[in-house]
Amino acid sequence: MTERYPFENTPLPYPYDALEPYIDEKTMHLHHDRHLKAYIDNLNGILKKYPQLQTLTLEQLISAAGQRTGKDWTAIVRNAGGVYNHRFFFSGMCPEGKKAPEGALAAAIERGFGSLDGFREKFAEAALSVFGSGYAWLVSGRRGLCLVTTANQETPAGAGTPLLNLDVWEHAYYLKHYNKRADYIGDWWNVVDWDAAERKYDRGRARPRGGSSSSHGSRLP
Ligand code: MN
Repeated sequence: MTERYPFENTPLPYPYDALEPYIDEKTMHLHHDRHLKAYIDNLNGILKKYPQLQTLTLEQLISAAGQRTGKDWTAIVRNAGGVYNHRFFFSGMCPEGKKAPEGALAAAIERGFGSLDGFREKFAEAALSVFGSGYAWLVSGRRGLCLVTTANQETPAGAGTPLLNLDVWEHAYYLKHYNKRADYIGDWWNVVDWDAAERKYDRGRARPRGGSSSSHGSRLP
C-alpha cells in the first residue's frame, strides 16, 4: 500500500449489509465509519505536526514508531496500528466466499494443524484467549504457519506475513452477539475471504526471506 498522509477512510470493499446475517449492518457502519475513522483522524492529526513523517506509508510509520519512545510516537504506533489492523480485517472478509482454502495455503494448514477443523479450533482458542481487546492472527512465519494474538492495536510486526486476522474488541460483535465472543467467531468463519488469504500466502512465499527491509506489501517490517 503506497498511501500516505493525509490518510483517507476508503470505502469498504462490499456494502455494509453484505456480511449479514453473520456480521450485522449496524456494526459494520459503526466499525468502519466511526471506529476506523477515529484512528485515521487521530493519525492525521498527529502527522500534521511532523512534515518529515508525511511521506511514510502506514507500514513505515508502524515500523519507525515501534523503535522510538515518547508521547507522540506512542500515539502514532497506536493509531497507525488501528488503521492497519482494521483495514486488514475488513479486506479479509467477503460475502459468499468459498468455505475452505485451496492450493498451497490449504496444504500448509494441513501440515501445521492436521486439518482445517483442527486449525479452526486452535484459531478460535487463540481468539478466545485474548483478554480484553485485541486480535487473533494467522501468520506465515519462517517455520511455517503460526497463530499470534496481539493486544489493543498492536500488530504482528516481525512475526512474518499476516494472512488472516479477527478483531475481538467488543465493538466488533457486541450489538449482535452481546458478550458471546465464541458465537461471533463461529459466524466469522462464514465470511472469511480465503482467496485473499491465499494471495497473501503466495506473495509472502515468493518474497526472499531474511532481508533487512520489507516494508512493502502486507508484511510488516
Ligand atoms: Mn475494531
